[in-house]
Amino acid sequence: MTPLWMDNAAYPPPSLEPLPARTDVLVVGAGYTGLSAARETAAAGRSTLVLDAGGLGAGCSSRNGGQVAYSIKPTFTELSKRFGADLAFRICREGLDAMAYLRALSTQHIDCGWQQNGCFFGAHTPRHYSIMARDAETQPRGLEQRISVVPKAEQAGEIASDYYHGGCVYHDDASVDPTRLLLALFRRAIDSGVTVRDRCEVRAINRAPDGFEVLTALGIVHAREVLLATNGHSGPLSPWHQRRVMPIGSYQIATEPLGVDAVRELIPKARNIVDSRKVVVYFRPSADGERIVFGGRAALAEKNPLACVPRLKQMLLRIFPQLKSARVSHAWVGWVAYTFDTLPHLGRRDGIYYCMGYCGQGVPLAPYFGTRIGQQMVGLEEGRTALDGLPFPSRPYYYGRPWFLAPSVLAYRMIDAVGL
Ligand SMILES: Cc1cc2nc3c(=O)[nH]c(=O)nc-3n(C[C@H](O)[C@H](O)[C@H](O)COP(=O)(O)OP(=O)(O)OC[C@H]3O[C@@H](n4cnc5c(N)ncnc54)[C@H](O)[C@@H]3O)c2cc1C
Repeated sequence: MTPLWMDNAAYPPPSLEPLPARTDVLVVGAGYTGLSAARETAAAGRSTLVLDAGGLGAGCSSRNGGQVAYSIKPTFTELSKRFGADLAFRICREGLDAMAYLRALSTQHIDCGWQQNGCFFGAHTPRHYSIMARDAETQPRGLEQRISVVPKAEQAGEIASDYYHGGCVYHDDASVDPTRLLLALFRRAIDSGVTVRDRCEVRAINRAPDGFEVLTALGIVHAREVLLATNGHSGPLSPWHQRRVMPIGSYQIATEPLGVDAVRELIPKARNIVDSRKVVVYFRPSADGERIVFGGRAALAEKNPLACVPRLKQMLLRIFPQLKSARVSHAWVGWVAYTFDTLPHLGRRDGIYYCMGYCGQGVPLAPYFGTRIGQQMVGLEEGRTALDGLPFPSRPYYYGRPWFLAPSVLAYRMIDAVGL
């Protein structure tokens, strides 16, 4: 089944143009990262070709939840221990800058259904609520977000469910229509002179005297510079990157239209909702407010999203038993890219640029870091980020199949079940 967001989306017809023999920049991956980077290189006057093995945005960029949140996973304290307080602060600032970047883009330049609706972060246990409330009161200086603590007694104003033990509202969070964002980034890239060719897999990237010889499904292209923007789809094309990102399935369902009023009864302020479980679930009203779109880690390795519908529906009903008779109209899956240090990574290795590893939170991060890496590729100072040059860790015996995931998720589910 296709993602809800693709219903009625105005996709361009598949491109049929022959590939150029040469290009200044070749980008692998036509998602938020690749299209954002390509726009920058084309705007700087470089001929730019974007190739995708699937359709436009076939990866995560057409199939995500559209939730926009501060998305640097490690806390300031954790990062300070790793890198010292100064770099930790700058890394965290990148997370805030990514949100600000997408907010400005969406409210001033493109139409992607931006809604500044905030997010309710539900506490899975009373202990989680206490930690959340404490963290909201003790945010590091200069990294503050607008957060309100919501005790359980006031929770009904956020969600028509007793499932949570209170929570916090993040007022700066927002939502977008993922496919509208994709198509807007596509249009911006095209308007800057980028050529996008879908259904054209890149099969090998070989060094050449003046850059790279890129073997594709449709022939050879000589490129001066190459960017890997393949995120959770980083396969054998670059084994070094494949060893550094873990593709993890994230599943979503959408209910049939319930009506705007019925959805408002469930989520009165139309906020995004996430919770504090280790195996997190996330949901929100659809962009038109008619449905609930609900996601989570429903299976460990299942590729057929239909097989996950019963489990996701069961998770949804635990929160909203009122939806017992609501039918599920859409189900889909996508592969997010986790990294071993839970940070995104961008840089250059063996002459090839890369930008990936958003750990399931690339809606704000991918357009932002994609823009930055594109700027780096044309030598612009503004492309620099606090993440430049960070080591990109792998693990022994990891070659692209996260064999350790199943036991980890099972352990996390047990922790969630006992409410730790
Ligand atoms: C179900 C789901 C829900 C999500 N919800 C959220 C959310 O609510 N908020 C949030 O912030 N993030 C969310 N995400 C994550 C977010 O969608 C991604 O982080 C983001 O879209 C990554 O964009 P990207 O351009 O880097 O990668 P992608 O969009 O995945 O694009 C990578 C592309 O590379 C192409 N490719 C790979 N190898 C080759 C090759 N050899 N040749 C040619 N092309 C190749 C692939 O076909 C793919 O299209 C979600 C993801 C999923 C799957």
